[in-house]
Amino acid sequence: MLEAPPASIAVIGAGVAGCALAARLRLGGFRGSLSLWESGRGPGGRTATRRSRQDPGLRFDHGAPLFNIAAATPLPLLEDLLAAGAVEPWQPQRALLTAQGTLHREDPADPFGQGELFRGRGGMEQLCRGLLELAEGGIGQHYGLMVRDLAVSDQGLWRLLDRQGEVLAEADWLVLASTLLAHPRSRLLMGWDTVPLKGVARSLADPDLDHALAALASIRSEARSNLLLVAEGEAARAWLACPFRLLRLDPGAEQRWRLSRLAIQPLDDGRVAVVAHSSAVFAAEHLSVYGSRSSIASQLNQSPSLEREAAVIEALSEAVAAALAPWLERGAVFGARRELMRWGAAVPLRPGLPAALSLCRQSRVGFCGDYVEGEGFGRVEGALRSGVQLADALLGALATPNPGPGLPLSGRSG
Ligand SMILES: Cc1cc2nc3c(=O)[nH]c(=O)nc-3n(C[C@H](O)[C@H](O)[C@H](O)COP(=O)(O)OP(=O)(O)OC[C@H]3O[C@@H](n4cnc5c(N)ncnc54)[C@H](O)[C@@H]3O)c2cc1C
Repeated sequence: MLEAPPASIAVIGAGVAGCALAARLRLGGFRGSLSLWESGRGPGGRTATRRSRQDPGLRFDHGAPLFNIAAATPLPLLEDLLAAGAVEPWQPQRALLTAQGTLHREDPADPFGQGELFRGRGGMEQLCRGLLELAEGGIGQHYGLMVRDLAVSDQGLWRLLDRQGEVLAEADWLVLASTLLAHPRSRLLMGWDTVPLKGVARSLADPDLDHALAALASIRSEARSNLLLVAEGEAARAWLACPFRLLRLDPGAEQRWRLSRLAIQPLDDGRVAVVAHSSAVFAAEHLSVYGSRSSIASQLNQSPSLEREAAVIEALSEAVAAALAPWLERGAVFGARRELMRWGAAVPLRPGLPAALSLCRQSRVGFCGDYVEGEGFGRVEGALRSGVQLADALLGALATPNPGPGLPLSGRSG
């Protein structure tokens, strides 16, 4: 008897969750075709490092500047990442700013400061790159491609479609390592008339998938408008003289200055990159203002309004200068090169997707990301754990026959 061909898996999203899932599948012995689809220019998602072709020395960790492991349960893949030199332990100088302008060293309430702290070595993007390297080239990686729609073929395979309706890929299993194709925000954000996965789910009659879609639809997220600035010379030295590298603002300070965090990132050539994260309230008020280098804006064919962008940059600069007045001259802020980075869905809010719904076996759909309930929810830790957990569940499902009628396809193994 001929052996059934191994199953194929298409993963949408090369953030931490998608990359961890892909690495774990390969390390767990998955032999089928594994492809990764990402609209950004490389892996990373919200842990990406922004670089510039014109200015090779410049880099901003413009999303997560670090990650922490708060749970006592060991984090799978971390030892491999440390051994490969992709990530390293990190003890940055941290501080908490109060509304009265007082600085505290201790910050027990910081959700990103609990437990052990790590960063990508040479930039946060190394976390995802390192995960993909653990799979030793066994992943088909596709960047700069937005998966716009989903369908099921007559043979029962999942189809990924681009903006023109062209088929990008077909696979037995579909993994959404981001909520975009399953969440109503895609209609608002992208101007789409239907939520892609919801449109297909109607014809699949899989109760688990319907429950998962209902749970996903109710997940809300906070946005962030981040000010990125690069200082040189005297201004760079002024930033480096600040008594912190990472600053968090407590709720009172956040309300007063409309900022939530600030990360000072020294560059190898003596310059200093700074990322100031707005408060959620500020970002919500300026949600329609994208940065002029925003990939979402270009995918939507929206030309950014330079005037509105300049006004947001100005407001954030004023906030940074006011909050840091005891340590920094205004010139260190206003004399620096400045740009805006807007994260529309920066941090998911609870309740997230119940972990039990992250694998819908009948329709052969999996979900992973920081939006799945579990240890590390809303952080890098949660994204990584959910990718690993889904990979383990998939390996288990591939080793046993499909329980229900499902899509008209069977007889594939892992
Ligand atoms: C400003 C900011 C600061 C943060 N600070 C910290 C911190 O200090 N510590 C911490 O632990 N966490 C922090 N976080 C949260 C952390 O970054 C996230 O929890 C984590 O990176 C989420 O990873 P993910 O893989 O779940 O999702 P993402 O990183 O969002 O990855 C999803 C990927 O899918 C891609 N994608 C989506 N739809 C499509 C499509 N249709 N076609 C193709 N590609 C698609 C997206 O481009 C994206 O790259 C921060 C987040 C932000 C925004």
